[in-house]
Amino acid sequence: MSVGNTVRAWRPLIGQEKAFIKTNKTVSRVSDLANLLPNESHTLEQVAKQYKFQATEYYLDLINWNDPNDPLKRLIVPHLEELDDWGTLDACDEASNTQLNGVQHKYPDTALMLVTNTCAALCRYCFRKRLFLDGNHEVSPNIAGSIEYISNHKEITDVLLTGGDPLTLPTRKLEKIFVELGRLDHVKAVRLGSKVPAFDPWRLTEDKRLQSIITDFLHTGKTLYLIAHFDHPREITQEAITQLRLFRKLGVVMVNQCPILRGINDDPDILSELYKSLSSIGVAPYYLFQGRPTKGNAMFRVPIVRGYKILTEAVNDLSGLAKRVRFVMSHATGKIEVLGVDNSHIYMKYHRPKYSRDKGRFMIFNRDDKAYWLDQLIPSDSTV
Ligand code: SF4
Repeated sequence: MSVGNTVRAWRPLIGQEKAFIKTNKTVSRVSDLANLLPNESHTLEQVAKQYKFQATEYYLDLINWNDPNDPLKRLIVPHLEELDDWGTLDACDEASNTQLNGVQHKYPDTALMLVTNTCAALCRYCFRKRLFLDGNHEVSPNIAGSIEYISNHKEITDVLLTGGDPLTLPTRKLEKIFVELGRLDHVKAVRLGSKVPAFDPWRLTEDKRLQSIITDFLHTGKTLYLIAHFDHPREITQEAITQLRLFRKLGVVMVNQCPILRGINDDPDILSELYKSLSSIGVAPYYLFQGRPTKGNAMFRVPIVRGYKILTEAVNDLSGLAKRVRFVMSHATGKIEVLGVDNSHIYMKYHRPKYSRDKGRFMIFNRDDKAYWLDQLIPSDSTV
């Protein structure tokens, strides 16, 4: 481990034998966390007033409470640093892609349906935490308008169900969404963006109705992708694996995406283990995201150069299947891949441009080891 500067005592729990109580109960008050010190609990409640706290009992059980820097604790338990003044609530201007409440349309062939503003648990680093704040109306409780928009835009072939986490919706609501999308001939694939496989490994295994909804949808001839969100190899428990195998058995194609997060996975050994494990259970590593400069996320930031080096070292010795991951930045102007770093420069290319002027655009910037976002690399007298 030469790039990562965080040394932690962690052990891979891939397929671990630990027995978990099968429960989908959640905890939403910091004071109910039995393992926090009383004064710690009081302070962190102040943070949770700003950015809500919620965790599944199952996920809390994965935390090593004896380690104050446990990565899974950092992922889910409020931290004072979240109150540091940094970033904005909509760091890549999703507002400009919002066509109506519940629909974002940034790339011609892909639409996002924001179907819920709930999640099984709330990641502290969430770039959409604005959805969980009072007064936000970006999610539509009524999908009719979203379906009508997609129906009227025949160029849309892919629909990403997101939010929030679509797998937290009641099954009957998911059924309605899948049935409606299944009827649209021009929609060829639906992507289910979800961290439920990491937070609640019994969501699919315990719900036969959901299993048959997925089967029925796949019988329409369309493809269903699970865009899973595992950040750390310790999230890949035997329970999680069992659920992923069921998704695969039903015919769902699985990939994984996650951001690089300081103190959670900014370590080549951890990322390497994550990609190896995911790949071995049929989940293709898809994107590693540069963290967006979102309010509350200062404690998770990793500069671009360091992130690139960590990923490069992580995948060096992995098989071709495990190293399919791309290091990308979801910028307001499109998805940009970080292709390389040398002594003087950072090399990037538009992977999914928002504007046609950027199609295939290759960019070379002077190397700045402190930069964490594209805008910091652009000379002040030019525009992106
Ligand atoms: S599961 Fe996804 S949407 Fe929900 S809090 Fe985590 S990152 Fe945000």
